[in-house]
Amino acid sequence: MAIHRQAPRPVTGSAELQALDRRHVWHPYGAMPAATPALAVERAEGVHLTLADGRRVIDAMSSWWCACHGHRHPHIQAAVAAQLERMPHVMFGGLTHEPAVRLAERLVALAPDGLEHVFFADSGSVSVEVAIKMALQAGRTGTSSPPTRLLALRGGYHGDTFGAMALCDPVGGMHHLYADVLPRHLFATRPPPGFAAAVDPAWVAELERLLERHATELAAVVVEPVVQGAGGMWFWSPAYLPVLRELCDRHGVLLVLDEIATGFGRTGALFAADHAGVTPDIMCVGKALTGGTMTLAAALCTPAVAQAITAGEGGALMHGPTFMANPLACAAALASTDLLLDGSWEGRVAQVERGLREGLEPARAVDGVADVRVLGAIGVVQLDGPVDVPAATAAALAEGVWLRPFRDLVYTMPPFVSAPGEVAAIARAVVAAARASAAA
Ligand SMILES: *Cc1c(COP(=O)(O)O)cnc(C)c1O
Repeated sequence: MAIHRQAPRPVTGSAELQALDRRHVWHPYGAMPAATPALAVERAEGVHLTLADGRRVIDAMSSWWCACHGHRHPHIQAAVAAQLERMPHVMFGGLTHEPAVRLAERLVALAPDGLEHVFFADSGSVSVEVAIKMALQAGRTGTSSPPTRLLALRGGYHGDTFGAMALCDPVGGMHHLYADVLPRHLFATRPPPGFAAAVDPAWVAELERLLERHATELAAVVVEPVVQGAGGMWFWSPAYLPVLRELCDRHGVLLVLDEIATGFGRTGALFAADHAGVTPDIMCVGKALTGGTMTLAAALCTPAVAQAITAGEGGALMHGPTFMANPLACAAALASTDLLLDGSWEGRVAQVERGLREGLEPARAVDGVADVRVLGAIGVVQLDGPVDVPAATAAALAEGVWLRPFRDLVYTMPPFVSAPGEVAAIARAVVAAARASAAA
């Protein structure tokens, strides 16, 4: 079929864009054509999105939890523009460049002590694939029966690629359609709820039984520390992290923390592991790494993991994406992490947390609300059934706020730079969305 180069048609308004979008463009977790049209966005600045129809709304999702400093932060913009002038991209096999080296140095400095090596990946899911490869390869060294399985938590989410999908909740996750072709890993029930909950010895005993029974076939335990994100916005106590660390050590299994959602301040600590002072063997970061500017992720590991891989069969980590350590993305990440260095994020996250606690309180009285929970810059209203997404979204937009509920959850992850009045508006919108969903 001949491919015609068409003159760009003038787009006259959001209605035409939406029609073209529905005809040609697939959206996340969507049907073709989509059940409901997507909203066209024209500009983004700070906490605001300007829609093509002229409305201006607060991005209470931080664009899927990435834009922690708001959109188009001038420091990140300038860094990306300067890097664009020098070198937007160069291959990473056999070559290196300052943005990647400086960023790796930065990540090692910020991450829990002991993580010394950085493997850059294009997206969170790919960094999870890399972490899995690291764990499997490291586990092969020095044994005649290499481990082939992983242990994850029920209710978890680790991405949409095949290796990552196999770690997501096997029942309630989005990937049960693929269950027959995924590797079969082990799943433990997630820790009981509550950031401040005391360690439940029964839960620990159950995990220990699993580890005892399966230690020789297990390469790693993989968890989202403290907050399970897309699997259900579930908060658990950091007091379980030292328990996990100790159990993994005792059974000779690696501990992988997926900090893709929790990293860079979202839960009130720079990394969720910092709530407990625990160092994993491997840690994944992504999402807010570039402050929402572009895609970049990384898997960090300890020298022991790197040495085991390098000493093993093959002597190398077998992964190397075409756009590995893209200089533009590294420059954005370096600039975004610059903004975290003065520590002001901590007060900002605490302020967002206070605003969400106060503002979401009225949701407890709304019919159909099962739970309201807040941790750091994360606010969640859980309903007792699935959210009516169109009704909830419309109610939030009427309050000037963009929300994207899923399953039984209306939630927000505001940019850290949201002013108190903006956090209050977001909370009103979440409550209005919960109410509208219940009434629909
Ligand atoms: C979003 C997310 C991923 C996947 O990241 P992508 O960049 O979407 O591939 C993996 N793990 C967790 C905890 C996430 O929140």
